[in-house]
Amino acid sequence: MILIVDDQDENIFSLQKLLESYDFKVDTALSGPEALKKVLKRDYALIILDVQMPIMDGFEVAQALAGYSRTRYIPIIFLSAVNTDKKFITQGYASGGMDYVAKPVDPEILMLKVKTFYTLFQQRLALDNMQQELRMEIEQRKKAQQELNEKMKHLYAILEALPQLAFTADSSGNIEFVNNKWRQYADRNTFPNLHPDDPDIQQQLRNAAEHPQQIEIELRLLCNECEEYKYHLFRVIPFMDGGQYKWIGTFTDIDAQKQVEKRKDEFLSIASHELKTPLTSIKAYAQLLQRTVDKNENSVAGQYIDKMQRQVSLLGDLVVDLLDTSRIENGKLKIDPHYFDLEELLDQAMDTIRHTNEHRSLKIHRKGHIVGKVLGDRMRIEQVLINYLSNAVKYAPEADEIFIKIKKDENKVQIEVVDQGIGIPEYKLPELFTKFYRVEESSIRFQGLGIGLYICAEIIKLHGGSVGAHSVVGKGSTFYFTLPIEQKTEINR
Ligand code: ADP
Repeated sequence: MILIVDDQDENIFSLQKLLESYDFKVDTALSGPEALKKVLKRDYALIILDVQMPIMDGFEVAQALAGYSRTRYIPIIFLSAVNTDKKFITQGYASGGMDYVAKPVDPEILMLKVKTFYTLFQQRLALDNMQQELRMEIEQRKKAQQELNEKMKHLYAILEALPQLAFTADSSGNIEFVNNKWRQYADRNTFPNLHPDDPDIQQQLRNAAEHPQQIEIELRLLCNECEEYKYHLFRVIPFMDGGQYKWIGTFTDIDAQKQVEKRKDEFLSIASHELKTPLTSIKAYAQLLQRTVDKNENSVAGQYIDKMQRQVSLLGDLVVDLLDTSRIENGKLKIDPHYFDLEELLDQAMDTIRHTNEHRSLKIHRKGHIVGKVLGDRMRIEQVLINYLSNAVKYAPEADEIFIKIKKDENKVQIEVVDQGIGIPEYKLPELFTKFYRVEESSIRFQGLGIGLYICAEIIKLHGGSVGAHSVVGKGSTFYFTLPIEQKTEINR
């Protein structure tokens, strides 16, 4: 909007027409005071100001406009029939006006100036807006930064209150904050010294740089005070701070727990070794005894010896499992791989299961057959299969049907044992293959040590395969393991 200020109606009229013919919006004032009132209420892009006016001349109006911050920068074109000498022109500029056009007005010249000022004004407006936005953005950033600082202070206070060693680090793993507890193990800029066999922490954080996610490892830290390595659980997660991610982590002392575990493992190892010798003797004597009474077939003593042998054999299995567990703990569980016939092994395992469960009318169905040989430790694979099958019998006391399925893809063969037993709640499945784990709901009803599946998982791991299970409570479970195979092995469905 352009404001024309002139005390002559006819001047205003002709100028207004001219400007409107160029699509400018126009407002008018017949005197200086009226003009001042208008500019205080409305925004104008340009004022065309007649110099000779009664009450207040154009220069006085311009001076008054220069006094208000709101109007100070509105460009002014002075129009005058007289006062065209240099002194008056200079006065025009000094009072805040920006150009001076002498009457009679040349419309083309005036329009050129109007357009220039108008564009300049628009640009200034745009600049002002941009500046305003920038100012707001700076304000917002300052506020965000302040809030972030507050949050970080809050976070540091929480870390300070933790009983663990706690720290924050930048994305490259450079330490930024440590709590007081940290000092027992290291200086404020370094990670604690680790056991030489444990992985370097900073390197771990750097390795995770591309896909930062939670890391959890058990590590041994060298304690400054006691000069001993102590087991800690190192847990670190990424978090966003000012647009980039950082790390926040803790070391929790689990040394006491680890020592108890170690003592328990040692006890189990010694106990199972100690049990093995007398058990072997009992087995041998039971066999000798059986030979002596065999002559009197169906004697009561013969039946008792049978029962005794069955129980001794169960006890033997338990001792073997315990020995395997301690072998795993000591890294001494080894496999002796050779090519073997998986089909033959499956048949044998099924026979064993039928034989040991003669009191049940078990039906074991097969689906899928494998042609060719598989590389592995035959005895250990049989152990896994028997374990799966025994569980399928044990945890399905009301159902006598078991399915063994063989599946194969390019790289592996998968053997599944499917039962129609009690099933396992889904959230417990991930724990099944861990040491001593037993599903609470069934642990009272069914006897066991909770180490069978753990041993299976370790055996299959040594073969480069994987284990797993899925299950529906009340409907049954499927336990599977995979073995890597050579390409030439084929499968018939
Ligand atoms: P154990 O049978 O001696 O307890 P395992 O390691 O063989 O030990 O099995 C661990 C646990 O997994 C069992 O205690 C049982 O709760 C559950 N489990 C294993 N197999 C099955 C199955 N086929 N059906 C239901 N639960 C099972």
